[in-house]
Amino acid sequence: MTALIDLNGKRGLVVGVANDASIAAGCARAFRAAGAELALTYLNEKARPWVEPVAKAVDSTVFLPCDVREPGQLEAVFERIDSEWGRLDFLLHAIAFAPREDLHTSVVNASSEGFGMAMDVSCHSFLRMARLARPLMTEGGALITVSFYGADRVVENYNLMGPVKAALESSVRYVAADLADEGIRAFSLSAGPVKTRAASGIERFDELLDQVRARTPSGRLVSTDEIGHLAAFLASNAAAPMSGSVVYADNGFHTTA
Ligand code: NAD
Repeated sequence: MTALIDLNGKRGLVVGVANDASIAAGCARAFRAAGAELALTYLNEKARPWVEPVAKAVDSTVFLPCDVREPGQLEAVFERIDSEWGRLDFLLHAIAFAPREDLHTSVVNASSEGFGMAMDVSCHSFLRMARLARPLMTEGGALITVSFYGADRVVENYNLMGPVKAALESSVRYVAADLADEGIRAFSLSAGPVKTRAASGIERFDELLDQVRARTPSGRLVSTDEIGHLAAFLASNAAAPMSGSVVYADNGFHTTA
């Protein structure tokens, strides 16, 4: 991959690689191509064989398990980054989860437990990461999460994840304001639909891809590598005047009616 952005000398944490097709994998490739040194995590031992090739391909120097619902695992990742690097320049939070029965129904029917779990894994974990990253971002930094247009408009079958992503995008604005005087910036990178493992949990996802393609001015969907280049830009000094924004990587889909 050709580097469009310079991240030489920067160190970043990438959370959310499930396999080669993950949005986080495209981002990790772009970060590495731009010169960054990376720490990657995997969900658990079952996931590890799928994540390891990505970690190797990006020469990841830290590779640890991280299930944000397992007490202490996220903390352990940041402790290791502290002992290994002593600082952190950027992180990518690219994780989401909702119980199937709550995702495959109207938001009206979503259970309190399911809603809470989706919010915890997909949104509150970003706040926890921001809290843990803050003391390590001694020279400022960038906190990037991945959102979707369903935060802003009703997208058929996106259901419960709509309000969860809306909360995530709002959290980003508050984090950006709270940490601004420490030189820490925060972004929602709103990606167009991509066929990933998480996406396969959304009902009739192939139809969504067709609808989005048809409404996108160029008629093209985005690739994970293209999303990655934009993430690398947000992590770079070139994006220094930006913070708190929702940045769309969707070939202009969100601008159409
Ligand atoms: P993916 O399945 O490749 O990645 C989802 C990741 O979430 C996996 O690595 C999984 O291990 C992780 N995860 C789930 N529960 C976790 C937990 N308890 N602790 C730690 N990690 C956990 O799918 P993806 O599409 O690349 O998803 C990445 C992000 O991009 C998600 O936030 C998703 O909502 C968002 N997004 C996806 C699309 C799309 O169309 N694929 C579009 C816009 C935004």
